Amino acid sequence: MDRMLRRAWMAGLAMVWMAALAHGSAFAESIRVGLTGYNSAAQLTLSASPSLSVSRVDTGESLVAEGTDLILSVQGSKVSVKSGAGEAVLSDGAVLAAPNDPSAILSLVSNGRTRKYRGSVEVSAKNGALRVVNVVDVDDYLLGVLPSEMPDSYPEEAIKAQAISARTYALRNSRKHAAQGFRICDTSHCQTYGGVLAEKPKSTQAVLDTKGMVLTFDGQIADVMYSTDCGGATRNYSSENPTRSFPYLCGVVDPDDIPHICWEQNYTLHDLAVKLIKAGVKGADGLLSVVISKTEASGRALEVEITSSTGKNQISGEKIRSALGLKSTLFSIESTTDGGVAIKGKGFGHGVGMCQTGAKGLALPPHSLTCEQILAHYFPGTAITPAASQTTAQTTHQDIHKAASKGAGKDMAKEQPLPVLLDIRLEAPDQL
Ligand SMILES: [Zn+2]
Ligand SMILES: [Zn+2]
Repeated sequence: MDRMLRRAWMAGLAMVWMAALAHGSAFAESIRVGLTGYNSAAQLTLSASPSLSVSRVDTGESLVAEGTDLILSVQGSKVSVKSGAGEAVLSDGAVLAAPNDPSAILSLVSNGRTRKYRGSVEVSAKNGALRVVNVVDVDDYLLGVLPSEMPDSYPEEAIKAQAISARTYALRNSRKHAAQGFRICDTSHCQTYGGVLAEKPKSTQAVLDTKGMVLTFDGQIADVMYSTDCGGATRNYSSENPTRSFPYLCGVVDPDDIPHICWEQNYTLHDLAVKLIKAGVKGADGLLSVVISKTEASGRALEVEITSSTGKNQISGEKIRSALGLKSTLFSIESTTDGGVAIKGKGFGHGVGMCQTGAKGLALPPHSLTCEQILAHYFPGTAITPAASQTTAQTTHQDIHKAASKGAGKDMAKEQPLPVLLDIRLEAPDQL
């Protein structure tokens, strides 16, 4: 190679390397997570090793430069910051507390309970209580999310699929909590986030292995949804929300050999009527029969007809599910020989998007799918893409799956009881 050519080649390499760095830093995007556990707290003790600093968010003015155990409390509409024996400093706006070593972990103690978080926290006074927001890199946030969303005992490729789903969920254009000053809350309303104390090794590895990867459709971050167990077939989101079309939230069928939850609940007509009346269902008094009158493609009950001494009424399958506390709307209704009703169902949760039971089964032999293949099964037509490229107009979905395509199912998961997850979260996907 002649010298000129080599120089050009080296320059090219340097550009690629710089582009990769730029991409890395673009993804070190932080997210504002509302820590709802402090909603009624009037006082909070903060510490970090070796020290932390506190400044005003609006002006950047330093309030404490080198604190160890700082007590933050509400003084009317102001935040008071007290360091050791020193005088308390008051701020009439939000304050930002950050470890002086950026890799250190913040400890927050309130009402005798300690929680630990990466990143920094923003504290403000709201209606006589503290409002605490964790400002944290997205992937650091995911470390504290994943173990609450999928057991660490699940196969590696299933956890990686969950990591990409959880990252996609976090980065989509959500405005649910905009009025409260954060993007996402730490409960199952958004995604359960337990901070550093919740972190688990396999989940952490899955976040690292899928670093920065999100699910996209047509170059936009997808509106992912997931639930514990689809009962064998996922639900088409648009079948119950005809005005909203999400082509990748369509119904898919899991392979027959993957075991899904089966359940049964039995009622006398009288007990059933009492429960329906309590849930506000009209015309349940004098109940004579209950039949499913409309089903969705996956077999879920869309509409149920109840016949009573006063006539017939139609109610939604979802209404029956919530009135009776059923695990899903994927059920049949049978009359029992003693004149009662047996509701026989499958699955647990809303069944839209990724099925966690199915993801586990698909990651294990004989399927042994990679996380990419698992996500392609549940979200047809989507691509796995670096999150940072979402800011560019044209996304080429190429050659980006390397981080997410290692061998599958190395680690056999033990059977574990299913976690209680965010299945009840059945909100509309946000408009992109
Ligand atoms: Zn929320
Ligand atoms: Zn399934």
